[in-house]
Amino acid sequence: MTRFDRRAFLAGLLALGTTPAWAADAAPGLSVTIDDFDLSPDPLMSGEARDQRLREAVERRGVKAAGFVAGRNAVDEVGARVLTAWSDGGHLIGNHTFSHGYYNGSDPQAYWQDIAKAEAVLKPFAGFRKLFRFPFLAEGKTVEGRDALRKLLSDNGYRNGHVTIDTSDWFYSSRLLARLKADPKADLAPYRQAYLDHMWEKATFYDGVAKTIFGRSIDHTLLMHHNVINGLFLGDLLAMFKARGWRLVDAASAFDQPELIRTYDAMPSGQSVVLQAAIAAGHPELARYPGEDSAYEKAKLDALGL
Ligand SMILES: [Zn+2]
Repeated sequence: MTRFDRRAFLAGLLALGTTPAWAADAAPGLSVTIDDFDLSPDPLMSGEARDQRLREAVERRGVKAAGFVAGRNAVDEVGARVLTAWSDGGHLIGNHTFSHGYYNGSDPQAYWQDIAKAEAVLKPFAGFRKLFRFPFLAEGKTVEGRDALRKLLSDNGYRNGHVTIDTSDWFYSSRLLARLKADPKADLAPYRQAYLDHMWEKATFYDGVAKTIFGRSIDHTLLMHHNVINGLFLGDLLAMFKARGWRLVDAASAFDQPELIRTYDAMPSGQSVVLQAAIAAGHPELARYPGEDSAYEKAKLDALGL
């Protein structure tokens, strides 16, 4: 595993002096992208109530989000109501497979069938667009498997619903969930702070890599999940980014940036597209594999008693 190399990263930042001032000075943008749509209740709210909080947090800022829905989560009435609300709010709905399997690259045709199965479920909703996000950001363990699925996606009109800022929000949420199951009245404040710190740390890290590789800050696609910690604190998260000078932007426009509308031939494939671009540009030292994982966060949360 290649650990992040601070010296190489700083050297890259210094190279920024060669880029146009307008580009280097632009504030980074942040768009919200939410995965999976597991709408089961958590100890504090129903799946629909959580969904309403997520949408309200985004809509209060006047921007549109993207939801990457595993088709199996959208086949019941609750799923249909939630995706209707997303469509009515002008948000994007993307494909995240039906079964949420891991793509190892060995059987692209079978994997494509699962994507097509999800499309049949999601297509009736007005917000549906042919953007595909890989579960676990796993795009295949072999060059052949990666390229075969890329071809199937593009032959069928799909683009990659990429992630630029990868996070372990799901792990923070799982720790909070465990606490709430044991004690529904647990103090939320330290979880909120740890979550905000983590999301900020990841955002500034990936934006730093983007500046090094692209010569500018970009409009990011932030990965998060339909879970209790985002349901509680997405509003606080967006307020934090705004207060710290980031722009809040629509997910649709973030997906359309020239540096990100293309694919990169990096192995291992998958993870953040910014890391793929770094590897493809000959800067593997900026990436670690996997990009994010509970293994990087566990000791931190253990030490905080969370
Ligand atoms: Zn997922």
